[in-house]
Amino acid sequence: MIGVCILGSTGSIGVSTLDVVARHPDRYRVVALTANSNVDGIHRQCLDHRPRFAVMSDPDAAARLRGRLAGTGIEVLAGMDGLEQVAADPDAPIVMAAIVGAAGLLPALAAVRAGKRLLLANKEALVVSGRLFMDEAVRHGAQILPIDSEHNAVFQCMPGDYARGLDRIGVRRILLTASGGPFRAAGRETLAQVTPEQACAHPNWRMGRKISVDSATLMNKGLEVIEACWLFGTGPDRVEVVVHPQSVIHSLVEYVDGSVLAQLGNPDMRTPIAHAMAWPERIASGVAPLDLFAVARLDFEAPDRERFPCLRLAYEAVTAGGGMPAVLNAANEVAVEAFLDRRLPFLAIPALIEETLGRLDAGGAATLDALLDLDRRAREMARSLIDGFGTRSA
Ligand code: NAD
Ligand code: MG
Repeated sequence: MIGVCILGSTGSIGVSTLDVVARHPDRYRVVALTANSNVDGIHRQCLDHRPRFAVMSDPDAAARLRGRLAGTGIEVLAGMDGLEQVAADPDAPIVMAAIVGAAGLLPALAAVRAGKRLLLANKEALVVSGRLFMDEAVRHGAQILPIDSEHNAVFQCMPGDYARGLDRIGVRRILLTASGGPFRAAGRETLAQVTPEQACAHPNWRMGRKISVDSATLMNKGLEVIEACWLFGTGPDRVEVVVHPQSVIHSLVEYVDGSVLAQLGNPDMRTPIAHAMAWPERIASGVAPLDLFAVARLDFEAPDRERFPCLRLAYEAVTAGGGMPAVLNAANEVAVEAFLDRRLPFLAIPALIEETLGRLDAGGAATLDALLDLDRRAREMARSLIDGFGTRSA
């Protein structure tokens, strides 16, 4: 029996992970579940899966959960200390990092430093601290398996020794597919009026609200370009984005001999989750078999960087290097939150991020403290700029 810790168990990825775990009770047991403040959600999960630990980031929520779990033997912890403790617990060799945003960085890093198999859904952690994160994984013998469907697909299309470098294994390009989001074909006038409800209604995937908005702006693909650079040890010049509205090909790897390998499947995150949990073995995930006759056709088009400037901003940030991706991520988190609160129009999301990037000098940030400080300053800067953008673009 392999112990599993799920960071962010009440979210979309967390729930899918528990679904896969529950299909294999002879193979996996849940050691820890964590959530931000959703007491009802995690309470139900605790009764179903009987972990040893439950962690709430919010201390008041932890106190309420403790009351409701009294007598069950499940220990309730609180805050960042609790998250880091369960992420590093030797009873759970597998850790799913499924907290959303930079808030998930420190617990994911705690798992890496404990030498775990880290199932990484929390792409923001890599965007903020890619070099440090990957270096720590090597130092502590941690194994990072990508959960993001594109990166999981790329991983599946590469040889096991890809860490030797893309040139050595004959890879020319990584092609990340993008659905294009709910506004793939929308004009600027439509984009100017987009509501949070429309932005969160993704055509192919059911996801948390933040990543849904990121998919609508194409920032999600921008973050994934940066994520791919770190996971596969390459520069952004070898990572290309292909819009593929059906979301059946999850990504492709092009080799120097002209071969292009792709991974296909129904758009359901339980496939990459089951793949990474059992790797190098394969286990059932509950995902329906792909019906190619029902899919019938696969379309491809180039992304429109004019209508979706977030993709351009992400390429620029990773090319500039240093702390720029951390600033990009922080400004994006602030912008998305403001958009979801109806304080910022949809088209002002990239504008706010670009302005924040232009105002901060992020060149040298390399240590964890410097990156966390930069993340804090970028958030402050972005927040101070919101009012201007809110009124100007409304
Ligand atoms: P979600 O919003 O549905 O869930 C987020 C989880 O994190 C919840 O359990 C929540 O309680 C917890 N959380 C939120 N803020 C927190 C905080 N400040 N501290 C501690 N815990 C906190 O998000 P999701 O869609 O499941 O996405 C999770 C991560 O996986 C994101 O980084 C996302 O980009 C990535 N991802 C998601 C999908 C998907 O299909 N949903 C696909 C690929 C990658
Ligand atoms: Mg993805």
